[in-house]
Amino acid sequence: MKLADRPAVILPVLIVLIGGGFYIGFSRGCSPHREPVPPMKGKPVTWLCEDGHVFEAPAGEDVRTCPEPGCGAQAYQATLFECPNGHRTWIWFKQKAREFRYADGSHDWQPLDEPPTCPRCGVPVQPAGPG
Ligand SMILES: [Zn+2]
Ligand SMILES: [Zn+2]
Repeated sequence: MKLADRPAVILPVLIVLIGGGFYIGFSRGCSPHREPVPPMKGKPVTWLCEDGHVFEAPAGEDVRTCPEPGCGAQAYQATLFECPNGHRTWIWFKQKAREFRYADGSHDWQPLDEPPTCPRCGVPVQPAGPG
C-alpha cells in the first residue's frame, strides 16, 4: 500500500498554496511584512518595471519581463522606501547579484552590503507603510 504516502506529499503543497494566497491578500491590504530584505524564493513579491508598472510575482529571478499588455520592459523586485523626512523612493533589488538600485534611475546598481539611503537627503530609509 503506497497510497498512504501520498497525503504526506500533498499536504505541504496545499499549505504552501493556501499560505501564498493569504500572503497576496495581506500585502494588498495592510502589509504586515515590513522587512527591508525581500522574502525568500517562491513567495509572491512586488515587482516594478522600468516603465513604472507594479505587479506581484514569485521571487527567485533577478529580472522579469513586465506582464502589462504592450509593455514588455524589464522588471525587478522592488520595495517602496521612505526616509524620516517623508521622501518616498522605490528601490529595485537583484537577489542573486546582491545589488540594489533606485528606481528613479538616479544611480547605478550598488552592492547590497551598503544599506539603501534616501537619494535626496542621504539618511537611511525604511520600508514605507501603505498610503
Ligand atoms: Zn511595464
Ligand atoms: Zn529624504
